[in-house]
Amino acid sequence: MGLMKAVQLVAHGKPGTFRVADLAPLQPGPDEVVVNVKACGLNRLDLWLEEGTLPLQLQLPRTPGAEIAGVISRLGSDVDDWRVGDRVAVQSNLFCGQCEFCLRGDESICLKGQLLGVQKDGGFAEEVLTPARSLVKIPKDVSFETSAALTLAGSTAMHMLTNRAEVRSSDWVLIVAGASGVGSAAIQIAKQFGANVIATASTLEKRNVAMEAGADHVVDSTSETWPSEVRQLTDRRGVDMAIEHVGGKMFEQVFACLARGGTVVTCGATAGREVEMNLWPFFVKQQRLIGSYGRNRSDMTATLEWAALGKLKPMIHKTYSLAETPQAFTDLRNRTVLGKAVIVV
Ligand SMILES: [Zn+2]
Repeated sequence: MGLMKAVQLVAHGKPGTFRVADLAPLQPGPDEVVVNVKACGLNRLDLWLEEGTLPLQLQLPRTPGAEIAGVISRLGSDVDDWRVGDRVAVQSNLFCGQCEFCLRGDESICLKGQLLGVQKDGGFAEEVLTPARSLVKIPKDVSFETSAALTLAGSTAMHMLTNRAEVRSSDWVLIVAGASGVGSAAIQIAKQFGANVIATASTLEKRNVAMEAGADHVVDSTSETWPSEVRQLTDRRGVDMAIEHVGGKMFEQVFACLARGGTVVTCGATAGREVEMNLWPFFVKQQRLIGSYGRNRSDMTATLEWAALGKLKPMIHKTYSLAETPQAFTDLRNRTVLGKAVIVV
């Protein structure tokens, strides 16, 4: 077997320093498989790794890339559920399969959880090594690019709307940053459940993306008064559910939009991890705040099945070759990406 190419981050920074390395082919342990990567989506998580700002112990060099789609090329000796040639997506929240949370199906809060592409080498490479238990089958009608554009952000949204909370028809749902990966998927999922969707976006182009995804209303998040616009749209009642993944001031503004008995589900804090919260209206109005992290394989399976049925469409902005990976990082950081950037290997 020849060498395999991998894009390695060798020094943190904005931008970080990358190199394309020729590495020895990967060898699977007994319960592992090697996946030939066909496509891998780029996410904000990759930028945090690049910048070195994650609250985790990080070691370099590291191959980033968490949203992997590919074909199994080699099997470990104990793997009997999969075959060479199977088309697979990879659950990048690596989990042990044995702790109390894994055993009850909550693998995304595994006691020994690790992030593929952050704490282990990920998918911006020709090959990736993964435990067989982390694989999910890609339906035959779903392309590798579509899988690589949906299985992280799309199934994060699926986890928030159908697992951590349950969106109902007739709910008013607020989705912040509606043009983002999580936002555009959340809009589509909430609409499929029959909800009324209000999204936020900071530019005209992004508002158009949120409308294309199916939002009923889109408000300009750069306007100071957007929370009162949301209250007006809902007849002053507020929204039943808010899908939040920005943090900082946005997190505080979202509570100004929330109805009595409403729920905020949050999965990110790009704009700030520490926030202020007024507890008086929160408990008087009997509201709920729910944390969400990653996804379970069941969320990935649902996301890919919905993609096969055309109920969930990826918003792919641009595809890049493996060698162009550093440019894709720069484009995502400079916010010139509308929708997903996908590396095609
Ligand atoms: Zn576990």
